[in-house]
Amino acid sequence: MYDVKSMKAEEFISHEEVLDTLKYAAENKHNEKLIDEILEKAKKRQGLSHREATVLLECDIEEKNNEIYKLAEQIKKDFYGNRIVMFAPLYLSNYCVNGCLYCPYHLKNKHIARKKLTQEEIKKEVIALQDMGHKRLALEAGEDPVNNPIEYILESIKTIYSIKHKNGAIRRVNVNIAATTVENYRKLKDAGIGTYILFQETYHKESYEKLHPTGPKHDYAYHTEAMDRAMQGGIDDVGFGVLFGLELYRYEFAALLMHAEHMEAVFGVGPHTISVPRLRRADDIDPDQFDNGISDEIFAKIVACLRISVPYTGMIISTRESKKCREKLLHLGISQISGGSKTSVGGYAEEEPDDERSEQFDVSDTRTLDEIVNWLIKMDYIPSFCTACYREGRTGDRFMSLCKSQQISNCCHPNALMTLKEYIEDYASEDTKNVANKLILKEIENIPNEKVRQIVLERLEKIENGIRDFRF
Ligand code: SF4
Ligand code: SF4
Repeated sequence: MYDVKSMKAEEFISHEEVLDTLKYAAENKHNEKLIDEILEKAKKRQGLSHREATVLLECDIEEKNNEIYKLAEQIKKDFYGNRIVMFAPLYLSNYCVNGCLYCPYHLKNKHIARKKLTQEEIKKEVIALQDMGHKRLALEAGEDPVNNPIEYILESIKTIYSIKHKNGAIRRVNVNIAATTVENYRKLKDAGIGTYILFQETYHKESYEKLHPTGPKHDYAYHTEAMDRAMQGGIDDVGFGVLFGLELYRYEFAALLMHAEHMEAVFGVGPHTISVPRLRRADDIDPDQFDNGISDEIFAKIVACLRISVPYTGMIISTRESKKCREKLLHLGISQISGGSKTSVGGYAEEEPDDERSEQFDVSDTRTLDEIVNWLIKMDYIPSFCTACYREGRTGDRFMSLCKSQQISNCCHPNALMTLKEYIEDYASEDTKNVANKLILKEIENIPNEKVRQIVLERLEKIENGIRDFRF
């Protein structure tokens, strides 16, 4: 039944294969010889199979777990250095026809304020985001063929790319909308989107159907096969995610990696990113109603095991998580974080009155983008506003092959420094400017190629003189 190359959801995410994997992992969680072999394989930085990764996830030998964390940190450093890519979500509309039990935008919620931004309102939101310093957005919209048809999404993307306020520009628009047709994915590709993001929520079919009792999202196969259709529509950067807390985390972990293996087997390219959201409190949603919440410790183990299993896939954590939790996970594998986020429709340009709130979930990390940039720098990370790959056509397998040969670091590091310089020239507070300039000076020395170093120095000077948008 399990067939990694099958185009049927129930065959590439075979329930039996997930259960067999969990059984195998439980039987081997104390098998030191096997765990050592898996760790040796992981050290080669070519990734792990879902079975191998799940054994590591299950392992409860303290010494081996410490090795897993150490290796995750090392792989993070080797592939991503100390760079952290910044982004912000932009909610276009919270009209939705689905009945998801964990999301306040579900159709039956009659008291949440329903909003849909007009193109004029989108402009205001984008200007507010540009004025914070953002260059990379993730668009969010509920599923509603009447209120949020594909034409609305396409028009909104066009509007977003067209706005150039002062030195600002949104240079990459990632899109998180409901599963759709190959034809619509082609339209999104033609509109110039970066990554198409779709969270699976849960891979467990029975739970999935219960959690999505009504609406088009109820169809497990249509949802699970969406990434294949996106690829067929020409989108070669896709972003995965599960909502931890809905089902047993072990199940989600094994299935998520099976999904990645499926994409690799069929299209030769795995997920561009993996997001790891945990269920949060929201308007009419109480996370305590769900039995499968995970502790910070398990969460950290999941992130570390994913890091060593798919080293070339970016990992994203949002402001759902607290400062403390984000700080811990950055070391273990996270490469992208959001900052200054609003999870309401129209929340950037204007504060929402209390009786018109439209958030999708409570934000835990409420700091401003400048505070987050400052915090990252003080921990010796380089906040990066880079969007170069997509704009240079380095997407899909081209991106992955560069990434797998670790060549991408030769672009990322100088691009991070140049985009950080842009950020501090245009948007940073005095303190952030000071610490960032010191960091940039120090980090220039870590560019191995003398010629590249020279070019970066010249470009940094040009940025100080008002020229923008340099990239490798
Ligand atoms: S999770 Fe998405 S599809 Fe489900 S109710 Fe919320 S916005 Fe709608
Ligand atoms: S160079 Fe490419 S991979 Fe590196 S940070 Fe920029 S966009 Fe990402």
